[in-house]
Amino acid sequence: MKKKLLQVLGCPECHEALELTEKELVRDDEILTGLLGCHECGNQWPIKSGIPRFVESDNYASSFGYQWNKFKKVQIDSMNGVAQSERRLHAESEWKNKWTSEEWVLDVGCGAGRFLEVASRDNCEVVGVDISNAVDAAAEILGGRNNVHLVQASIFKLPFRDGVLDACYCIGVIQHTPDPSLALSAMPRVLKARGKLAVTIYECKKFTLLNSKYLLRHFTRWLNPKILLALIYCMMPILWPLTEVLFRLPVLGRLFRFLIPIANYVEKPELSWKQRYQWAVLDTFDMLAPHYDQPQKEADVFNVLQNAGVGQIRRLNNPGLNVVGQRN
Ligand SMILES: [Zn+2]
Repeated sequence: MKKKLLQVLGCPECHEALELTEKELVRDDEILTGLLGCHECGNQWPIKSGIPRFVESDNYASSFGYQWNKFKKVQIDSMNGVAQSERRLHAESEWKNKWTSEEWVLDVGCGAGRFLEVASRDNCEVVGVDISNAVDAAAEILGGRNNVHLVQASIFKLPFRDGVLDACYCIGVIQHTPDPSLALSAMPRVLKARGKLAVTIYECKKFTLLNSKYLLRHFTRWLNPKILLALIYCMMPILWPLTEVLFRLPVLGRLFRFLIPIANYVEKPELSWKQRYQWAVLDTFDMLAPHYDQPQKEADVFNVLQNAGVGQIRRLNNPGLNVVGQRN
């Protein structure tokens, strides 16, 4: 953990500033292990392997920890030679100006850090939060960058003081929490007035829950992640060649995507065949393993954000339910 993270960290319970009570330094500004304490409520949290830990690793999101430690490099732009994550972050946030050195940007549910890697190219400080031990994968990839900070914490109890951050994005995360409305409403608190928020959530439309993935998930979400991944590797040689043909069909292609529960990005020609196969394994696991997958309705998301103090809420024309706004 870099010392400057203390500027924004706060008690996840009472939101007061935290103090470093014990520490072992790697360098003058980098803490490897230590304790963070809150004067107000007396709680303490450990810093382990250079990351402040506000939760135990074994929780509802542990399949994501497994997934992102296994596939940590697959979706990182600078490692795969494509700009998928860059395009998505720019399209889904619409943040056109570059963030500057005094500004703090938060990535909620950062996983292995695909979007964090893009955000950290600006001069600003970026903080990646994840409830799973995916933060360890992100630290391995991005921890060496001076402006990247990682924290293991819950979206329901974000460990930041009130109103200290300039922007916050949360892409593909909210539906995987046990209470999506509560998760959404927890983010605006940490933003400054006029701080920007960008969220993308799976959308619940008329037939969404009839998608084959939702039918299979009744069973697969209870499987041990290792067993599920082994099953996916067994299934791929049969289903993959089928999707190579069926997903490309005009009109009917959409129906087959609904019926066949694997991800194959036939519409992304910039990915090589090998990359597409790798992404398919990763995203099929991502569809079937999470403990929660609760797509949301647009009206509900707008309501929750309004009640949490977000204004100028707009839906953007991107896949999924992509909404931006700013704190009042
Ligand atoms: Zn406290």
